[in-house]
Amino acid sequence: MIKSQIIDKARSEGKTLLTEIESKQLLKQVGISVIDTKLAPARDEAISASRQFGFPAVLKIVSPDIVHKSDAGGVKLGLRTSKQVGKAYDDILSAVKQKHPQAVIQGVSVQKMARPGVEVIIGMTKDAQFGPVLMFGLGGILVEILKDVSFRIVPLTKRDAGEMIREIKGYPLLEGYRGQEPVDVSKLEELLLKVSDFVEQNPEVKEIDLNPVFAYSDGAVAVDARVILEEDR
Ligand code: ADP
Ligand code: MG
Repeated sequence: MIKSQIIDKARSEGKTLLTEIESKQLLKQVGISVIDTKLAPARDEAISASRQFGFPAVLKIVSPDIVHKSDAGGVKLGLRTSKQVGKAYDDILSAVKQKHPQAVIQGVSVQKMARPGVEVIIGMTKDAQFGPVLMFGLGGILVEILKDVSFRIVPLTKRDAGEMIREIKGYPLLEGYRGQEPVDVSKLEELLLKVSDFVEQNPEVKEIDLNPVFAYSDGAVAVDARVILEEDR
């Protein structure tokens, strides 16, 4: 589906939360780097998709009613065989049905396990005074516990993008820590600028959460994406 169709479809269904599948489709179209991801509406399709992508695979619940997939028991990582994928599918569905009996389930998303990198997050929220604001931080517990994040108002300049990456306390982790390869910061800057452009051109988008983005010495890729639309007015 093209961009306007994804947004129109959600709107016509009265939804503002796009699924991981819809969010990634939308962002991919504007050149934002997301990991290849396929919707599998049933168990067999989850297995065949994981074979196509190659193992190890990742399965995640796809539901317009579930915001935090892991909390719902809806994410299984590092699946190495068809058998493991089949079991993960069953486990995800039973966990989610137990925790969210009312949730509409579209199936699972299938993607490859991303190779290890530094996990960062990029977000956009709208501030009552400043309008759209981008956030950058390191992923996982660093952002949750330490709140080590930086903010800039949209539209971002190239200079803003560079500064917001370098001013977080965890920046040394991106420069290569304890023998880890340094991350290509220019790729992260590009990503921030693309998100800024997308936000400027799509005022109907209320919130974006790329969490996490895996950053590498040769690029960066979002493995999870959430887009929330403004209420239809
Ligand atoms: P949610 O944020 O809705 O709980 P995510 O899609 O972010 O679900 O998955 C939870 C965690 O699993 C991520 O923070 C990341 O650490 C890991 N993860 C998700 N997708 C992948 C992937 N394709 N490759 C490697 N790790 C992944
Ligand atoms: Mg996530």
